[in-house]
Amino acid sequence: MTESIAITLILLILALIVCAILAYRSERSIGKSVFLFVLCIIPPVFGNLVIICSPNDILSFIGYYFYFLGMDLMVYSMLSFSFEYTGIKRYASLICRIVLGLIVLDFIQYIINIFTHHAFGMKNIEVDGYVYAQLVPYFGQTLHRILDYGVIAIVILIFIYKSVKVPRIYAEKYYIILISLLAVTLWETYYIFSRTPIDRSMIGLGILGALVFFFSLYYRPFRLLDRMLANVASELPEALYFFDASGNCIWANEPGKALIEISDSGLDKVISRLDDYFGEITWDADEWSSRQNIGEGEDKKYYHIEKHTTSNENGKKLGSFLSIRDITLEQQALEREKYIATHDTMTDLYTREHLNAEVARLLRDNPDKDYYVIYSNVNDFKIVNDIFGNLFGDHVLKYIANKIKDTVDEYGLAGRLVGDTFGMFVPVDKFDEATFEKELTHFTVTDGEIEHFVLMHLGVYKVSDRNLDVSFMFDRARIALSTIKDDYHTYIAYYDSKMRETVLWEQKITTQLGVAIKERQIIPYLQPIVNKEGSVVGGEALVRWNHPEEGFLAPYRFIPAFEKNGMIAEIDKYMWRSACELLAKWQKDGKNLFISINISPKDFYFMDVGAEIRNVVREYGVNPKNLRIEITESVMMNDQESRFEILNDFRREGFIVEMDDFGSGYSSLNMLKDMPVDLIKIDMAFLRKSDHSEKAEIILHNIVKMSYELGLISLTEGVETEEQYKLLAGMGCSLFQGYFFAKPMPVDEFEQKYV
Ligand code: C2E
Ligand code: CA
Ligand code: CA
Repeated sequence: MTESIAITLILLILALIVCAILAYRSERSIGKSVFLFVLCIIPPVFGNLVIICSPNDILSFIGYYFYFLGMDLMVYSMLSFSFEYTGIKRYASLICRIVLGLIVLDFIQYIINIFTHHAFGMKNIEVDGYVYAQLVPYFGQTLHRILDYGVIAIVILIFIYKSVKVPRIYAEKYYIILISLLAVTLWETYYIFSRTPIDRSMIGLGILGALVFFFSLYYRPFRLLDRMLANVASELPEALYFFDASGNCIWANEPGKALIEISDSGLDKVISRLDDYFGEITWDADEWSSRQNIGEGEDKKYYHIEKHTTSNENGKKLGSFLSIRDITLEQQALEREKYIATHDTMTDLYTREHLNAEVARLLRDNPDKDYYVIYSNVNDFKIVNDIFGNLFGDHVLKYIANKIKDTVDEYGLAGRLVGDTFGMFVPVDKFDEATFEKELTHFTVTDGEIEHFVLMHLGVYKVSDRNLDVSFMFDRARIALSTIKDDYHTYIAYYDSKMRETVLWEQKITTQLGVAIKERQIIPYLQPIVNKEGSVVGGEALVRWNHPEEGFLAPYRFIPAFEKNGMIAEIDKYMWRSACELLAKWQKDGKNLFISINISPKDFYFMDVGAEIRNVVREYGVNPKNLRIEITESVMMNDQESRFEILNDFRREGFIVEMDDFGSGYSSLNMLKDMPVDLIKIDMAFLRKSDHSEKAEIILHNIVKMSYELGLISLTEGVETEEQYKLLAGMGCSLFQGYFFAKPMPVDEFEQKYV
């Protein structure tokens, strides 16, 4: 009996030493308090061991000292541990200091006791054949007990206070210490009253130390963790379903139950319901995630589904869970963002970048399908903005965009490239030229107040080189568009490889024009004009370019390019000046020949034609009646009134204004009566074209007759045979020009022959 208790106490002491060392090494902040507490349990246990085993009174006496003083230290360290463990700070240091003071007094009392024996004495008794020194308590011992019990009472109060204050789930770690503390206290009390010499409650004290050690340093509140995780899971906004290792649903949170409309009792339906909602879900795979959408249009919902499997440390599958998150809002925001990034805000068509990307994608995805890339541009859109304001301009662009959308339909793509240019991409078999021409090339736009006629041309490139960058495809379509002249009949042009060469050619000569004029590569030729009698009365100035590399260039090689970019004005100014120079010279020599100069309709856009001609005429002192001004009908197409004015001014000042190429344009006879011209120049070429020479003759006859009746001089150009000359002269035509008389020739030659 005694031996077994002794051995138990020795084992306890060893266990406490191990606990103390571990606590000391612990990195947790409470480690030091635990260490002190566990350490302070050792002396009383040791004291009791000594008492049990002591063969004489002296050793027992020392044992009792270890016991009592150790108890003092133990209660004190337990007190300070309790404050730290519970986190209570209020009065903590005050109480500790008072207790420490009392313990010091108790120590002093026990020292005095050596001499006075006022605290305790000893009496030998025999138990089970062993002789023990039994304690005989006096007044001092009572004081000591009051102190120790008092401190234990405080500790118990601390733990009781703490365990009722915190949520039940946390109280666990306080309960255990509280209960063992109470047990040890009762056990100790039982010892005191039973007056047995062997204090078995020391075993309880040792166990208390081990419990404190474990709970404060190693205990992880698993139940607390479980509960917290479960709470978090049910609070999560996403739908969660937990499955056991064999795949049965064991739990679903509220959103999870709401999503597939089941109740707590319907957990066995989870899998089939989820399959119904989201199509077949891959239940076999351990880890996966996917995006799914259900519903259509406004009700379309997007979900992110994720499955995870959990396993224990040995890799054995414990169960799995599925989470389903409604990402509709994110997805909608994303799609809105994407829409904004890929669509033009004003017209809602694709942006250039997005159109290019989509074109490239369609070409890639449909390698066997033929497509047209179409480039369109609103004619003179700048003028719309300038005259009617940006608001109406925007209105026009939106209107056009809608028309484009309707025409391109679901078969094709459409985007706004920049400003007033649009791009389209249409499968060849869905492209109906007539429809595109009718819908997209000429129409009237109105906002209720302003009405504007819009002219739009389309350049079409049939994608033959699929490896070409899409922007180059649109470039080719644009090149096709640029070949359309303002002739009001052609709206759609198709790209061919020659066009590219033309563009390159035009770029080249454009950069060379300045030097060409300066170096006199640009020169006037003169073609004689004769009267009825066959004498030369004047000549038409026609431009030539004596190009150092390309050779002798006729106007058709370069004038169209310069009419497009406005540089024709430079050429014409130079030609007019040359004509005036010649006229001044001839005038001085007393020669009364005239020169007809050509005015391009584009000249009016790039300069003040009236002022320009007047200035150069004045500069050279040329008689206006000798400078004849050739204009074509198309000059009258735009801005008619101011053009009328300019021409009338010329006539008032004595210039003769001629209508060139009569019959080639669209305006026709009707316009003739209003045109402020003195002469009409009829081009045989237009009549030659027809096979019905008889009819041509009738027309010619009537034009000449009509111009006579309108008081206009008639001139026929392109006269190539004597027969024609005779015929026309017979009809009453008064002036003639053509190869029959002479081809255009250098000025020198003209002067030698006719001046
Ligand atoms: P246009 O004003 O109608 O000039 C008459 C054109 O017919 C000239 O061609 C002339 O060489 C050609 N021609 C004259 N007689 C005959 C004939 O009997 N048979 C045929 N088949 N052709 C004949 P060119 O010189 O090549 O000029 C072509 C056009 O270039 C001119 O047509 C005119 O519109 C323009 N052009 C020429 N020089 C100038 C210029 O200095 N300024 C402007 N703006 N345009 C010019
Ligand atoms: Ca002419
Ligand atoms: Ca002509």
